[in-house]
Amino acid sequence: MDCPYCSKYGTRVLESRMINTSIRRRRECHHCNNRFTTYEQAVFNFTVIKRDGRHQPFNLEKIRNSLEKACGKKEESFFQELATKVERKILAKKKNPIKTGEIGKVILQELKKHDKMAYLHFAAVHKKIEDPKQLEKELKLLA
Ligand SMILES: [Zn+2]
Repeated sequence: MDCPYCSKYGTRVLESRMINTSIRRRRECHHCNNRFTTYEQAVFNFTVIKRDGRHQPFNLEKIRNSLEKACGKKEESFFQELATKVERKILAKKKNPIKTGEIGKVILQELKKHDKMAYLHFAAVHKKIEDPKQLEKELKLLA
């Protein structure tokens, strides 16, 4: 870590504190003794390949939005938990970039466990189910 005052390398950590999901550190420069604060936070930098081939940075908000669209009105915490589960599963795949189709599959797996109506709703959009017979097949898989 370079000192923002003198640009030299080398600081001493005076204090570390967990704040929500980040760590705040008070630092003191070895050279000029000025003090400053740094924040450390995990950032998931991975790329999503959209259906049309465009690349986009992964965005958990988008997953939340599509979950909300599929599930309708539910507790805020329901979406938060579901989105976090989906994110963890996607991270566990260790694929970068990842196709939207694969993300969709993970969402479907989770919805199947938590909300069968939302699963069907999402599946209809995601798998482009227009044929009533295919929808019937999906319903049987749920039974
Ligand atoms: Zn310094």
